[in-house]
Amino acid sequence: MKPAPFAYRRPGSLDEALLALAGEPDAKVLAGGQSLVPLLSMRLAHPSLVVDINAVPGLDSVTASPDGVRIGALARHTAVLANEDARRVQPLIGLALACVAHPTIRNRGTTVGSIIHADAAAEMPAVLTLLGGSVDVVSVRGERTIAAADLFRGPLETTLAHDELAVSAFFPALGTGAGVGFEEISRRRGDYAVCAVAAVVRLDGDRVLEARAGFVSVCDVPTVLDLTDALAGGVDAATLTAAGDLAIAGLDPVGDLHASADFRAHLVRVLTARALQAAHDDARERS
Ligand SMILES: Cc1cc2nc3c(=O)[nH]c(=O)nc-3n(C[C@H](O)[C@H](O)[C@H](O)COP(=O)(O)OP(=O)(O)OC[C@H]3O[C@@H](n4cnc5c(N)ncnc54)[C@H](O)[C@@H]3O)c2cc1C
Repeated sequence: MKPAPFAYRRPGSLDEALLALAGEPDAKVLAGGQSLVPLLSMRLAHPSLVVDINAVPGLDSVTASPDGVRIGALARHTAVLANEDARRVQPLIGLALACVAHPTIRNRGTTVGSIIHADAAAEMPAVLTLLGGSVDVVSVRGERTIAAADLFRGPLETTLAHDELAVSAFFPALGTGAGVGFEEISRRRGDYAVCAVAAVVRLDGDRVLEARAGFVSVCDVPTVLDLTDALAGGVDAATLTAAGDLAIAGLDPVGDLHASADFRAHLVRVLTARALQAAHDDARERS
């Protein structure tokens, strides 16, 4: 199938890109094209205008500071994954990105594009939400920062207005005493997750101060749960099982072609326990 006809613009500046978006309510931004182009080809998206931002300068940076990691709109997954400072400041970025698609897709696809595409089966929206990150967006009307918790409205739907361009995403740094874990099951390496769980555990000595998990490919939107209560008595096989049970009590897994809702519930239990264990061990190693 071929895409429905659309106009194409490739602006050379941010201002030009924002004017193009403002002038056409049905416009779509093109970043890496790894999700948009298939949607166009299948005619699941039929914008009147495609605004290709690949010639806009200054959007491809990855900057790590003690506060966190800022990823520009044109930073490819591969560039983010290769950035040692980013992986050190927030190790969950590296763990999760290694599970995003295949190298050829990571070479072109952008991390910000993946977030704005808002697929509940994608790793980075859940990671951004778990970490309490945010996205900076601009339009001809001004700029604003959208917290990840306020970004995902529904499947493939965000709270960005039609004229807004996401210029960067910010992932907060790993806090003191914290560790991270990421566990994923997919049918083949590089495929979208059938289920994945990202976890952050924060310790004070042996005491679990905080245990939170983000779920990929479980519900319609990236979902985060606080599981601290289950690990209040320490981390062992029984409390990890309790954490898995607590997780499933707070979720409503969807069934699809790849996994029934029951199978997903099973994966949630198993992967939650594994991800929390990994995050706990990571926190201990770092302290
Ligand atoms: C075979 C295959 C396997 C894949 N597997 C995975 C996987 O396992 N996990 C995963 O997470 N992803 C996977 N992907 C998707 C991949 O990660 C894409 O790169 C990503 O979803 C979208 O990034 P992009 O830069 O290609 O965005 P595009 O395709 O260019 O855009 C996607 C959407 O986001 C909008 N958009 C993009 N950037 C901006 C911006 N800066 N401001 C406003 N709107 C914007 C576009 O308008 C469009 O609606 C896979 C893709 C393929 C083809």
